[in-house]
Amino acid sequence: MAITTKERTDLRQELVGQGYSWNYIDEWQPKVTLFRHRDLKNPSGEVVSPVGTKLENLPGNPDYVNKKARMGLYPWRPGNTCTCRWCVRVVAEQEKIARPNAKTAPSRSARIGPYYNPNS
Ligand SMILES: [Zn+2]
Repeated sequence: MAITTKERTDLRQELVGQGYSWNYIDEWQPKVTLFRHRDLKNPSGEVVSPVGTKLENLPGNPDYVNKKARMGLYPWRPGNTCTCRWCVRVVAEQEKIARPNAKTAPSRSARIGPYYNPNS
């Protein structure tokens, strides 16, 4: 796939924004394992594939993983250290239940993202 320098720069920026390493676009692997960070529901609202589901042998090309990241699929497990929009929401709700009188929620920027490096 031939892409322009601008498209490549934009794609890199979007991947980094999703939590991928700066080098992903240069060092990607042909096959990746992704984890669901968001329940997949059928049209009647039943969960057909829950958070944490592991999906193996998916293509690792940057364009593909970027699209998947928008849908809540990332190459690291969901959890408290993840800064994706779905995990952040779950953690915020858990904290609200645990500390109902807390006035301010911990800010998202205070948490460190699990930057993915395919070589680590
Ligand atoms: Zn997440």
